[in-house]
Amino acid sequence: MTTASPALDVDYLLVGGGLQNALILLALAARKPRASVLLLEQGEVIGGNHIWSFQTLDLPNSALDWARPLIEYEWPGYQLYFDDAARWVKGAYRSLSSEHLHRLVMDAAAASPCIEVRLGSAVTAVHGDVAILADGARLRGQVVVDARGPEAAQPMGRGRFSGGYQKFVGLECLLTTPTNLNTPILMDSRCAQRDGFRFHYILPFAPDRVLIEDTYFSDAPELDVPALSDGIVADAAGLGLAVAEVLRTEAGVLPMPARSHFRAAMTNPIIGGYAGGWFNPGTGYSLAAAVRLAEHLSSVPVGDTFGPQWRRLIRGMGIQARFLAFLNLLMFGFFHGPKRQRLMQRFYLASDPVIHRFFAMRNNPVDMWRIMYVGAPWTPKGWAKRATHSAAS
Ligand SMILES: Cc1cc2nc3c(=O)[nH]c(=O)nc-3n(C[C@H](O)[C@H](O)[C@H](O)COP(=O)(O)OP(=O)(O)OC[C@H]3O[C@@H](n4cnc5c(N)ncnc54)[C@H](O)[C@@H]3O)c2cc1C
Repeated sequence: MTTASPALDVDYLLVGGGLQNALILLALAARKPRASVLLLEQGEVIGGNHIWSFQTLDLPNSALDWARPLIEYEWPGYQLYFDDAARWVKGAYRSLSSEHLHRLVMDAAAASPCIEVRLGSAVTAVHGDVAILADGARLRGQVVVDARGPEAAQPMGRGRFSGGYQKFVGLECLLTTPTNLNTPILMDSRCAQRDGFRFHYILPFAPDRVLIEDTYFSDAPELDVPALSDGIVADAAGLGLAVAEVLRTEAGVLPMPARSHFRAAMTNPIIGGYAGGWFNPGTGYSLAAAVRLAEHLSSVPVGDTFGPQWRRLIRGMGIQARFLAFLNLLMFGFFHGPKRQRLMQRFYLASDPVIHRFFAMRNNPVDMWRIMYVGAPWTPKGWAKRATHSAAS
């Protein structure tokens, strides 16, 4: 490995080999091929066991030069079903598996003498620009990103006004008969409602292979994985899917906090990824925010990492995170039972671009107004219709 300065071990020291640092490494590999990068991951693979999905603006065109290979699956939009309404949202919907991410990162490291990935390398502490490894070794980076994942994140409090959870069990299934479903169903809430707002989420990877998730916007984090897995297999027939075999199970409890945990300092280390609040509080998803951090680090000189562009980025992220967390305060604090389902249905009255900006944490002030007043039950019907009409035109 080459280094820019003899006083430092590397230009970029990445602690934790999950989604956040994998994206940073790929962006640096493409845009700064001469920068030295060292990624330290305690496990034996990059990215754990996940399918990450993302909407069209989560991966903006400006990032496609380095991020296009992330797209493992792509569809032109997705469908939503509620009890008495249905909706098609147009715009690329994409997914990638952790196996795919692992391959991309290892290939990037193999192709470059400046990039090193150390698997099985646990870090016990990060102080400033120094990471201390389990064997006592100390490594210094000009920029250090500490992204050790949800375990390192601030715990969310409990109580009516602390927010809630998006929690789910997903089964990747082989089907006995091919399905003609060829685009994702982001939400199908035509199922028995319990434990908050409940819906099915379906990704058709191939005619005979789908992911079926049973998802809840719930006040409580508890998740009975075996019982919900059995329920998914039982519900599948009603969704028009005949399950032959379950290939893989994934479960998640993603906090949707009522107060933003986003924090970013002006010095090392950057607490990146989930631990630093680089996720969308309104969805629990983090790919869009992780891309934003990767974009920043790969587009400014290493010495300008904490310069004016950083200040702009973190100010904008802070505003978005606070707005989205405030929506959680409203939803989990005041909308219970069928009211939560109606709230979600009304949110999807918004136009496609507003929905895309919501997921990508790029809400502008007009979007914020629309989401607060158009989608909310307290909005007079006439207003909602007018605003929906102007949003669509
Ligand atoms: C089941 C599930 C599905 C999800 N689906 C989506 C989705 O579809 N779209 C989306 O945008 N988001 C999704 N999310 C949310 C979010 O993307 C993930 O939480 C994301 O992985 C967070 O990225 P991260 O890099 O912060 O943490 P992680 O990806 O969790 O990575 C942290 C890494 O740090 C390593 N580590 C921890 N401690 C140490 C240590 N001491 N030393 C060295 N390494 C260490 C871990 O082993 C891990 O590899 C999902 C989350 C879950 C749980």
